[in-house]
Amino acid sequence: MVSIKSLWPMLAALLIATTAAFVGFPLYVHHEVVKATGAYAPLYLYERSPYDEIVLEVHYQQDAAPSDVALEGLRQMLVNYTGKRVEVQKYGDLPASVVEGRVDDGNVSVIGAGIIERYGHCRMGWLGGSIPIYIIYVNAQGPSSNESEKVVGMSYRADSFVILKNYMDSERLEEAVLIHEAGHLLGLEHCEDRKCVMASVHLEKRSWKLYGGGPPTKFCPVHQKELEDRRHDPFYNSGPLFQNTMSPLTKALVRASAGSSSIF
Ligand SMILES: [Zn+2]
Ligand SMILES: [Zn+2]
Repeated sequence: MVSIKSLWPMLAALLIATTAAFVGFPLYVHHEVVKATGAYAPLYLYERSPYDEIVLEVHYQQDAAPSDVALEGLRQMLVNYTGKRVEVQKYGDLPASVVEGRVDDGNVSVIGAGIIERYGHCRMGWLGGSIPIYIIYVNAQGPSSNESEKVVGMSYRADSFVILKNYMDSERLEEAVLIHEAGHLLGLEHCEDRKCVMASVHLEKRSWKLYGGGPPTKFCPVHQKELEDRRHDPFYNSGPLFQNTMSPLTKALVRASAGSSSIF
């Protein structure tokens, strides 16, 4: 006969395993994995991810309002590549004082985390449901003091990036930067192909005309394939969810000097 006493070790092991699966692992994902850009790629992309809705939660200063056309371009890209519902929510709730001085590599994480903590609405579901992408629009100087090489966007963690609206000279550029930064959140790195939105190379404005008169807003075939593969394979490229391989900070840079721009 099996006594209750002999079952104890099994019950204890089961309790530990259950706690690890439903508390420990989500805690790790919500508090540690979130710090690395690209680490949530499987949560956004994988077809069986428990997250079936992406909320694009945009917070902006009154003088840094986003372009609806650019946001719709980003929304469509996410619908196409993730197959999930994607909802845009906009809040013009950031006071001028939210950024004092420059946004740079040293303070973007703290500024971003503070804004999300204070103004964020959508919280990532504990085990599934909605997962946000926070987009923070501010009117501020970027890291570079070089006027001809301005950072216009910075993705600095797994679920968020900052847009420096004052450097956007067109809706097309804004759309390109939104899609480029979101591409980093989906696990993509920079691209050699100048026609790819993930290009980090210097682009001449006159060569943009070849691709339709503005910076590229589409992924090259290689990156399209990568996004498709990531949708079917949660461990693509050794699985950034478990092994944070990407640089924690990526940027979009625009070289706004006469006639040329580049996106990084
Ligand atoms: Zn590419
Ligand atoms: Zn980049």
